[in-house]
Amino acid sequence: MSADEAGGGAPTGAPGRPAPRVLARAEHRLSRSLVSANAIKVLYRLQRAGFDSYLVGGAVRDLLIGRTPKDFDVGTNARPSQVKHLFRNARLIGRRFRLALINFAEETVEVATFRRSPEPPEIEDGGDADVLAPVAEVEEYGTPAEDAWRRDFTVNGLFYNIADYSVIDHVGGLEDLERGVIRTIGEPNARFLEDPVRMMRAVEYAARLGFRIDEETAAAIAAQGAEIRRAAPARIAFELGESLKGGQALPIFRGLEEHGLLLHVVPEAHAALSRRSDGLLWRLLAVADQAVQRGDRVPEEALLGTLFLPSFLTAVEVDGRPVLEIPEAEQVIREELEAPALRLAFSNYRGHLIRHAFMMLLRLSAPPRSAKSVVRTVRHEAFPTAWSLARFLATATGLHKDAVAAWEQAIGRLEQGLPAVEGGRRPEGGEDKKRRRRRPRRRRSGRQIAPAVQGGAA
Ligand code: ATP
Ligand code: MG
Repeated sequence: MSADEAGGGAPTGAPGRPAPRVLARAEHRLSRSLVSANAIKVLYRLQRAGFDSYLVGGAVRDLLIGRTPKDFDVGTNARPSQVKHLFRNARLIGRRFRLALINFAEETVEVATFRRSPEPPEIEDGGDADVLAPVAEVEEYGTPAEDAWRRDFTVNGLFYNIADYSVIDHVGGLEDLERGVIRTIGEPNARFLEDPVRMMRAVEYAARLGFRIDEETAAAIAAQGAEIRRAAPARIAFELGESLKGGQALPIFRGLEEHGLLLHVVPEAHAALSRRSDGLLWRLLAVADQAVQRGDRVPEEALLGTLFLPSFLTAVEVDGRPVLEIPEAEQVIREELEAPALRLAFSNYRGHLIRHAFMMLLRLSAPPRSAKSVVRTVRHEAFPTAWSLARFLATATGLHKDAVAAWEQAIGRLEQGLPAVEGGRRPEGGEDKKRRRRRPRRRRSGRQIAPAVQGGAA
């Protein structure tokens, strides 16, 4: 695949595979005007340097059905080092397969060299590629056709060629896109065994796009569901995060439950669904989706927290009242979150935030006792998480609605520079020395936070 061969010629298929279907510009609705200016710049610069330059993956899928893509990915036959050479703002990442991230002020465009290996993607830890790590063998790079065939679902395997504005379909994606079907590229059992996270992705796409999962693909999910436990925790956590953050968590998690995956991915949530008759998980996710769709700033830890809240509440509440004293609740929280923290590779900090948010939730279930307690609570790093969860819970169930309203009022007063509780002290004033000396802080053993919790051991 030399640079001279690139761009113009008719696309060829992979050996032993059917020839690709090519839609000329007039035959499809993907308009360049809907591709971000930065992605266009990247596509053209690669093309003008003599390389194949395709828009690939989700952006092609979304634009063909009139949706707004989340981001723009580019596929090329230029090697990562060649890409880096062309773009001053490029950074190479990835250990096994190098990707170039082209950074712009508003977005990052990912440029990947065509490859043949169907290996699951790596989770990027944010750092630059390890220069000592082995770089992908040359043979692992591939042709555009091979690159299409290694992808997960047919609707994700489409290319848009900037050289002639055609759409190239090696994998039957156009037909599935028209019919609204999520289907693996190749035999579904094999593709799911190769990378079990694809089962979660199938459910996620079906819910997000309002598509149905092809019968054979669904049967393979039913057969291979438990294999998801083999997947790298960080990748499962990443996929869960994507599912929670997009404002469509309710249909996605209903899908995960329906296809038997929730049991393996978040067994706590699955168990609470059968133990509680109130469908609390669904109600919480519906409210969380509304918040995300409104554009509220919701910490990812709060979204994750909704998955564990039903089982936690089952353990500490009777008739909507927390019945455990704080030290016991702490113990329950620690026990409830221990397994998920490992299974989903929570960072220490993430574990710490969720644990503290759950503890704080017990405090937020009663009106604030004093201005001081409001100030102390809102300054805690876990407060945004706890506050989102408290509001989700109040909206979803009416639980502690009055207490949450009282806190809301107190926080509002604090934001206006007033004492958080009427007749209380001003926030800046804090506790003056005289007062503190006269009334030493009461120590309630239960309020102390156990070191293991504070340290945030995952
Ligand atoms: P989104 O709208 O969520 O960005 P996307 O389809 O672009 O959807 P990404 O996770 O950004 O999804 O991945 C980009 C593309 O990479 C996919 O469209 C697919 O072709 C390919 N891909 C991603 N993950 C896998 C996987 N696990 N196995 C095979 N191919 C994958
Ligand atoms: Mg994408």
